[in-house]
Amino acid sequence: MNILVTGGAGYIGSHVCLSLLDAGYNITVIDDLSSGQKKLIPDKVEFIQANINDTNKLNKLFQKKSFNTLMHFAGFVQVEESVKFPEKYFNNNTKNATILFETCINNGLKNIIFSSTAAVYGNPNKELIHEGATLNPLNPYGESKVQTENKLIKMQKNNNFNYIILRYFNVAGADPKLRSGLISKKPTHLIKIASQAAIGKLNSVTIFGNDYNTHDGTAIRDYIHVSDLADIHVKSLEYILEKKQSKILNCGYGKGYSVKEVLDTLNRVCNNKIYIKYGNRRSGDAVSLVSNTNQLMKTISWTPKYNDLETILKTSIKWENKIQNEKIL
Ligand code: UDP
Repeated sequence: MNILVTGGAGYIGSHVCLSLLDAGYNITVIDDLSSGQKKLIPDKVEFIQANINDTNKLNKLFQKKSFNTLMHFAGFVQVEESVKFPEKYFNNNTKNATILFETCINNGLKNIIFSSTAAVYGNPNKELIHEGATLNPLNPYGESKVQTENKLIKMQKNNNFNYIILRYFNVAGADPKLRSGLISKKPTHLIKIASQAAIGKLNSVTIFGNDYNTHDGTAIRDYIHVSDLADIHVKSLEYILEKKQSKILNCGYGKGYSVKEVLDTLNRVCNNKIYIKYGNRRSGDAVSLVSNTNQLMKTISWTPKYNDLETILKTSIKWENKIQNEKIL
């Protein structure tokens, strides 16, 4: 079965390619390599360098091959950048994604699995967030994803296809076999930054705000290992193929860790004690984002394998060591 994957050269897309290959699917990746890395695309994958709005290239591809499902990862993900350049986010994450969906549907594709984000919820006032919670994004990145979700939902009402929207919580860690991991010129994610500090690439980690209304004053997130998230995609694919139903699912473990707890755990698992500084809150940050996983667990038969902060951190540090030793970036 042929699966079309956009953004397969990116962090999450490349891990999903690995899981899809392990499960026996054929994959064609479309990526314009604007932020993705060609070396992260597994060898067995057909690769086409193109933007998702390149309807000509896509139409030609559909004439050559028939695709059952689109998994759409290609998109910009930097919150701060989205505040500076909102148009970039609405153009690519919403407008181009809509063009991509239309092209696929016009070519008879029946299933779309779309990467969304917990950023759609904004700053919810609930300990565990369920999919029906109000969508109130705090930045253009989150807003661009809400708008794309809405387009997809509307298109599905008028066309013969199904979707699964996956709202990712905080994705971290690396493939345990170190075939892929996060590569980023300007990292902003806590676990990436902390792992760089753990291998001595950074001198310290700054905690952005310790005056939040949480048990230790630092913000709380639900960190999910990228390979478990990749498995959710394979299970979602099986679900949509079998049940032919559309769903919106949160992707997290349903357990929150504060920034301080993440860094304390890191100091326990690595030899290098990292130096912690305290700074101001980062604008646009939510206090706490932890997933209610009921809908996810009810819908797909998924058993997480790496549901443990230490494992997430260890794989992330190993990956940082690898890319440092191999001078990748
Ligand atoms: N954070 C931090 N120091 C850093 C990077 C992140 O204190 O150097 C905090 C950030 O303010 C947030 C949490 O760690 O509360 C997770 O941030 P990240 O950027 O990893 O993911 P986000 O939840 O923003 O998508």
